[in-house]
Amino acid sequence: MSNVISKEVTCPKCNHTQGAHLYISINASNDPQFKKALLSGKILQYRCDSCGYEARYTYPLLYNDMKRRFMVYLIPQIDRFQLEDRALEDDYRNLKGIRKRITSDFNSMKEKIFIFESGLDDMAVELTKYAISEMVAKKLDLGRVSEGYLTMYNRETNTIGFTYFVGEEAEPFVQSARLEIYQKSLKIVEAICANDKKLSGFIKIDREWAENTLFRYKRVKSGR
Ligand SMILES: [Zn+2]
Repeated sequence: MSNVISKEVTCPKCNHTQGAHLYISINASNDPQFKKALLSGKILQYRCDSCGYEARYTYPLLYNDMKRRFMVYLIPQIDRFQLEDRALEDDYRNLKGIRKRITSDFNSMKEKIFIFESGLDDMAVELTKYAISEMVAKKLDLGRVSEGYLTMYNRETNTIGFTYFVGEEAEPFVQSARLEIYQKSLKIVEAICANDKKLSGFIKIDREWAENTLFRYKRVKSGR
């Protein structure tokens, strides 16, 4: 079931108050129309009826897709690796083997949905994205390329593609690669991420996680 609440929202610019529907949770299988509106950004879009001020809502939103067995919890600005939510765990305790992720921003939430709908492993995708970001940084002679999202996956053409936001202007830069690099990342996940896969609650699989994991992998490989 999706959960939508009605609330009075006050405009931060002109103080006008209007009624709004806030989507607390979205069930992808039961309410595909909500899913569509979420992905287009419509659900989180606020517009003041009086002065036209526009912003994106920032409140926790849970997305669940029981058919594909994953949940993504958007908690704006969350700075934690793991989140246990007793009430939620109780609601879904009969369902085993569900991947539960937290993300701190909307774009990462959309990316997780795309990854799981594509049948990919998000840990391996994060490692791949990290490796390719290093290549892009070198290619463009930049110190660091840190923001990027999976935007293309095609098994027939054996390619995977990411859009990075590079430089001071955060210009989009698309880089694709062959799927072998993803397969290699998957091997790393299988070799050293068994514990991460067993963690309870919602976990944050992002660039920071990829950095730590690759650091760990290099240490294991070198036998230290
Ligand atoms: Zn206003």
